[in-house]
Amino acid sequence: MKRIVYLVIILLVLNYVRTSFIYYKDPFIDCKIRIATSFEFSNKTIKAGMRALKFGQPEVYKEVCAKVKIIDTATACGGFGGGCYRPGTEGRIYVSTAQGAVLESAAIIVHELCHLKQQEEGRPFEENECYAADDVIFSELAQFEP
Ligand SMILES: [Zn+2]
Repeated sequence: MKRIVYLVIILLVLNYVRTSFIYYKDPFIDCKIRIATSFEFSNKTIKAGMRALKFGQPEVYKEVCAKVKIIDTATACGGFGGGCYRPGTEGRIYVSTAQGAVLESAAIIVHELCHLKQQEEGRPFEENECYAADDVIFSELAQFEP
């Protein structure tokens, strides 16, 4: 009997870790994005960035939820404090932010969403459009930063 209780507790803890760290979820609009962990452990920053987007730019937020499946926090291609989108990796964007850089993570998410849309629409990658998109996020969300 004791074993079963321990097992249930362990499963509950694992499930809590899984849902609170590995996934960003918003049940109100059926949003579920996996956040792939890297050594930066910036999952909480990514989540805070998503919440900032939700309240500051709800339409953009809904687009992120609809199109992005995985936010990978690896620094692989964008370098530190950057991001990237690789053609062919549908729904996966790379976002590298320091812990606590909420506004930056929101802006990079939107920048990479822009590239994802360019690819979906069969357009060439164009940086100016995507920098303009993340500029809007910086100016619109600045008021939310503590
Ligand atoms: Zn870019």
